[in-house]
Amino acid sequence: MKLNFKGERVMAVVAHPDDAELFCAGTLARAKADGAAIAVCVLCRGDKGQPSQRVANLTAVRRKEAAAAARLLGAQLFFGEHRDGTLIDGVAQRRKLIEMFRKFKPTLVLAHTLEDYHPDHRAASLLAEAASWFCAARGHKTRSPAMESPPALWWMDTVNMAGFLPGFYVDITDHVGLKTQMLACHRSQLIRGQDADFSPLAELMRLQMRTRGLQAGVEAAEAFRAHCVFKRARAW
Ligand SMILES: [Zn+2]
Repeated sequence: MKLNFKGERVMAVVAHPDDAELFCAGTLARAKADGAAIAVCVLCRGDKGQPSQRVANLTAVRRKEAAAAARLLGAQLFFGEHRDGTLIDGVAQRRKLIEMFRKFKPTLVLAHTLEDYHPDHRAASLLAEAASWFCAARGHKTRSPAMESPPALWWMDTVNMAGFLPGFYVDITDHVGLKTQMLACHRSQLIRGQDADFSPLAELMRLQMRTRGLQAGVEAAEAFRAHCVFKRARAW
């Protein structure tokens, strides 16, 4: 099956500034190459991702790192500005994300799955699911008008592929270089590779895209599952 993102507006909704690189940057790069408009929405500040060699002004540093990665991709960037470890699926948090959806008008949203290990990722998953419906509901008022129709929603893979059963794979063989360069922008997190409580990110990414590629019979891939509920599933 040949997937083509031409004419789509793809938005990744992630918890932390480096999550898009790990889970979906290859797919975003492929969509961009097909002619899609791309956005990344980072819900948390990344303020608690502190390496053992302390980084001053970590929130500002991580914001710049995310901006550098988004520039490489040619993506619009949205920030939720929530503190790490505090993200919950609440009314105010939903309203903020709904407004970001209405500003960008995605046709496809990529979001963390509920099987994920990190509480912020799971909260981001619930928020993305709720916003993918309410963004098109006129009764839910935000500054911008409601969207015409809700976007499709795909769940992303988990860290180290734990507990995630892929529904399908996207071949990112031609976009490994850009995905790798984007991750390299997150220097404050790459230096955490020496810390015992954190995995070396570059190695984690390489192993994951190669393993998913091996499962799909290509050099490198990212895995997803479509959220097949009312109005958010699409026929190809
Ligand atoms: Zn994360």
